[in-house]
Amino acid sequence: MLIVAWLLAVVVAFFALAYLNAAGWVWTAAIIAALAAMWSAQWLTPLALLIIAIVLLLPAIILNIPVLRRKVVSDMVLTAFRKVLPPMSQTERDAIEAGTVWWDGELFSGNPRWSRLLAMPRPRLTADEQRFLDHECEELCAMVSDWETTHVYRDLPPAVWQYVKDKGFLGMIIPKEFGGLGFSGFAHSQVITKLSTHSGTVAVTVMVPNSLGPGELLLHYGTDEQKKHFLPRLAKGIEVPCFALTNPNAGSDAAAIPDFGIVCMGEYQGKSTLGLKLTWEKRYITLGPVATILGLAFRAYDPDHLLGNKEDLGTLIPTHHPGVNIGHRHMPLNAVFQNGPNSGKDVFIPIEWVIGGKAQVGNGWRMLMESLAAGRGISLPSSSTGMAKLAVRATGGYARVRSQFKTPIGKFEGVEEALARMGGNLYMMDATRMLTALAVDLGEKPAVPSAIAKFHLTDRARQVINDAMDVVGGKGICMGPSNFLGAAYMQLPVSITVEGANILTRSLIIFGQGAMRCHPYVLKEIEATRETDRERASIAFDRALFGHISFVLSNMARSFVMGLCGSHCAVAPDKVARETRRYYQQLTRFSAVLAFLSDVSMGSLGGALKRKEKLSARLGDILSMLYLCSATLKRYEVEGRQISDAPLMHWAIWDAMFPSDQLGHAVAKLLIEPSATRDRLTAGMFVSSNEENSVGAIELALAATLAADPIEAKIKDAVKAGRLSIKARDDRIADAQSAGIITAEESSALRRAQRLVDKVVRVDDFPPDLGASEMRLSAAVVAHKAAA
Ligand SMILES: Cc1cc2nc3c(=O)[nH]c(=O)nc-3n(C[C@H](O)[C@H](O)[C@H](O)COP(=O)(O)OP(=O)(O)OC[C@H]3O[C@@H](n4cnc5c(N)ncnc54)[C@H](O)[C@@H]3O)c2cc1C
Repeated sequence: MLIVAWLLAVVVAFFALAYLNAAGWVWTAAIIAALAAMWSAQWLTPLALLIIAIVLLLPAIILNIPVLRRKVVSDMVLTAFRKVLPPMSQTERDAIEAGTVWWDGELFSGNPRWSRLLAMPRPRLTADEQRFLDHECEELCAMVSDWETTHVYRDLPPAVWQYVKDKGFLGMIIPKEFGGLGFSGFAHSQVITKLSTHSGTVAVTVMVPNSLGPGELLLHYGTDEQKKHFLPRLAKGIEVPCFALTNPNAGSDAAAIPDFGIVCMGEYQGKSTLGLKLTWEKRYITLGPVATILGLAFRAYDPDHLLGNKEDLGTLIPTHHPGVNIGHRHMPLNAVFQNGPNSGKDVFIPIEWVIGGKAQVGNGWRMLMESLAAGRGISLPSSSTGMAKLAVRATGGYARVRSQFKTPIGKFEGVEEALARMGGNLYMMDATRMLTALAVDLGEKPAVPSAIAKFHLTDRARQVINDAMDVVGGKGICMGPSNFLGAAYMQLPVSITVEGANILTRSLIIFGQGAMRCHPYVLKEIEATRETDRERASIAFDRALFGHISFVLSNMARSFVMGLCGSHCAVAPDKVARETRRYYQQLTRFSAVLAFLSDVSMGSLGGALKRKEKLSARLGDILSMLYLCSATLKRYEVEGRQISDAPLMHWAIWDAMFPSDQLGHAVAKLLIEPSATRDRLTAGMFVSSNEENSVGAIELALAATLAADPIEAKIKDAVKAGRLSIKARDDRIADAQSAGIITAEESSALRRAQRLVDKVVRVDDFPPDLGASEMRLSAAVVAHKAAA
C-alpha cells in the first residue's frame, strides 16, 4: 500500500514539476526526497538503493552544472545536429527570418500571456482618416457601378480613374512628407474594406499600389533621390506602379524566376553607363497594362565581376523605355481590373534604376520577404472582409423580404443554418482583420499572422459568399445591375490565388514558418549550429537545447493535466467578460497541445515534415484557430462586451473549437432584422440609400417590410374574423382600406413595401443575344474608324 502511495506521489510530483517548468535543482531535490522516502521505508537493500541513487543522481548533477552538461551532452548533440540538419539556402533563410514574432509567439508558447493581448490598444482612426472614409470613399463608391465597370467600360470609367488618382487613393501608405496620405495600417484596411463592399474592381485598383510593390519597396529601401522623385508622383497617381514577379514558369515558387539581368556596360542617353541588360517574361501583373512604372523582379548575374555575383529583385523601369512590351490584358474572370503580361529582351537600364541603387543589388529577395507581411496582412484580409460584409448585409435583408410558403425565407431552419455561418464567420473575419492591421500599426512585420489572415479570411469569404449564393438562389445567378452578389462570387478565386495561393499558404507556410519563427528554441538551435566560434556555439546550443527539453516536458504535462481537468486548472485572465473565461482556459490548453504536438512532429520527422503537407496544414490550422479565436475575444472586449453580439462571438469560437449548430438560430435572427448588432457586424460598409442600387433597394425594402408587418397583421386578423375575403394582395389592400381596417397611410405603406420587395426580387434580362449584336456593331464602328 505504501509503495502504491509512493509511486503515486512520484507520478504526481513528476507532472507537477514538469507542468511548472521547474528548475533543474528542484528536480534534483525531488529525486533526493523520493530516495529518502525509499530509504526510510527500507524497501530495498542499501546496495540496491545506492545503485539507483547513482543512476539517478549522477546525471542530475551533470545536468545541473552547465560546463559539465555541455561537455557530456550538448556538444555531442550539436555535432550530430549539424550532420543531420538539411542545408538551407539563403533564399530559404530570408523567407524564414523575415518579419517579426508577435502575438503568434505567445500562441506557440503553450501558455499565452492573455494580459498582453488584452493590453493592446483598440485600433483608431485620426480625424483626417475618418473624414476620408466619410467623404472621399463614400463619393468614390457612389461614382462606381460594378456593372458599368465590368460590362460597359471593361475598366474603371475615366472619371473614376482620375478621382482615384487625384484624391490620393493610390498613395495611402506614402507618408505625408512625400505628398501621400500617410494612413495607418488600420485606416488603409478600412478604406479597402469599404471599397470592397461595393466594387471589386475599384478595390483591387486601389489595393495594389498600397500593397507590396514599388511604393513600399522605395519607402524602405529607395535612395533619397529615388524617394524624392518617385514617391510624390506615386502619391498623386502621376505614376501608376505595378509589381512584376510572376513568370509563366514560376508562380508559387517565385524564388525560381528565370528572368535575368546581366551586369554590364551599355549606352544610356549617349553615354557609356554601368547597368543591367534584362530579359524577362511576366504574366498576371495587376495594373501592368496601364502602369507607367514597372517594378521588375529578376535575378542578376555579374559575369565580369563589375559588382560581384549577386541576385536581385526590384528594379524600376519606366514602361515607355525602349524594349518594354506592355499593354496587353488578361481577363481575370468577371473582374476587369487591369491585369496583363509584359516582357522584354536584352533591355539595357542604368544601375541607378535598381531600388536602393547599386548598394542594394543582391538584397532583393530579402527586401521582398521583409516587406511582404504588411501588405499581405492588410490587402486581401480587408477586401475579403468587405465582400463578406456586402454578402451578409444584403443577403440578411433579402432573406427577410423574400417570402416563400408565406414565410420569410430567413426564418426556415435550413436557411438559418447558412445565415448563421455567414454571421459568425464575418464576426471572426472582421476581428482578425482589425487585429492584424493593429500589428502593422504597432510596428510589427507580422509574417505568420499575415499568412493566417490571408488564408483564413479569403477562405472564409468564399464560404460566406457561397452560403449567400445558396440563400438568394436565382437572384444571385442572373447577372445584371441588380445582382449584388454575382461579381463577388466570381472575383473570389482571385483572392484565393494571389499573394501566396491558398493551398500552398496552408500546407507549407503557416506552420512551416510558424514553427521556425514562433518556437522559442528551434531557431536558436539552428543559429547555434551556424556559429563558427566553438565556445559561443556550445553555450548557445546548450541553452537552447535544455530550454527546449524543459519546454517539451512542460507542454506534455500541461496538455495531459489540462486535458484531464477539462482546462479548468488553466488560469483565465481576471478582467474579461464572465461568458468568455472558459474560452481563454480552453485556448491555453490548445496552445500547450499545439506546442507539444509540434515538437513531437519535428522531433520524429525532422526535415521530412516539410514534405508531410497534410500534417503541417493541420498543425497550422490549430495555430490559425488560436489566432482567430484570440482576435474574436479581443474584439468582444474592445467593443464593450456587447451582449447582443454575444451569439456571433460564441458561434465563431464554438465553430473553431468544436463545431456546433446550437447557436445558429440566434445568429441568423441577428442578420435578418435591422439592429445595432447588424450595423456593427457590417460597419464601414458602403450602404447606398438609393433604391436603384441593388443593396440600397434591399435596405429600403427591409425597412418597409418591417414597417408593413403590423399592418399586414391587421389584415390577416380581419380575414380570419371573416371581415375581409381572401383576395389578391393588391385588391385586399384596397378592400381593407375601404372597410376601415387600415388607414390611407397604412395602405400606401403596404404598397410601398410591396413595390420595393418586387424590385428586390426582380432580376435583370437582356436581348436574346445578350447584347452581342450591339457589341459587334460597336466593334465594326471602331474597325471602320481605324481603317478610315
Ligand atoms: C488576377 C491575378 C492577379 C495577380 N497579380 C499579380 C501581380 O500583380 N504581380 C505578380 O507578380 N503576380 C501576380 N499574380 C500571380 C499570382 O501571385 C500567382 O498566380 C500565384 O503566385 C500562383 O501561381 P500560379 O497561378 O502559377 O499557380 P501555381 O504556382 O501553378 O500553383 C497551382 C496550385 O498548386 C499549389 N501549390 C504550388 N506549390 C505548392 C506546394 N509546395 N505545396 C502545396 N501546394 C502548392 C498552389 O497553392 C495552387 O493551388 C496574379 C495572379 C492573378 C490570377
